[in-house]
Amino acid sequence: MDCVFCKIVAGELPSTKLYEDDQMLVFQDIAPAAPLHYLAIPKTHIPGVDGITADNSAVIAHIFEKIAALTAERGISDYRVVSNVGEQAGQTVRHLHFHILSGPKGGPMY
Ligand code: 5GP
Ligand code: ZN
Repeated sequence: MDCVFCKIVAGELPSTKLYEDDQMLVFQDIAPAAPLHYLAIPKTHIPGVDGITADNSAVIAHIFEKIAALTAERGISDYRVVSNVGEQAGQTVRHLHFHILSGPKGGPMY
């Protein structure tokens, strides 16, 4: 499949990883829109929030548990979690991802 994030999951493209387990990956955004900008993704290819179903939603809970834990471990208490759905909303990569954005304030998205 021609999906940039599937290629990152497969190790076919490099990324700066913060966290990885059997279900998910957290890595630095290549073009940060805030001083701290990570992307949290499921390893399985879900196109976006619009592709979440009863059959695949367990990984979403897992991702949010890890977002809470990874930020808390680093003392990050103030941050945004954003997921764009569809081109008009700014989704450029059609593999579900949650932007984790934090400060200090100054970037276009934080
Ligand atoms: P979207 O615009 O779909 O909400 O977010 C896609 C994000 O993925 C963008 O912030 C963009 O900078 C990031 N991105 C696109 N291609 C790559 C890549 O190859 N590596 C990394 N680390 N981030 C990428
Ligand atoms: Zn994918």
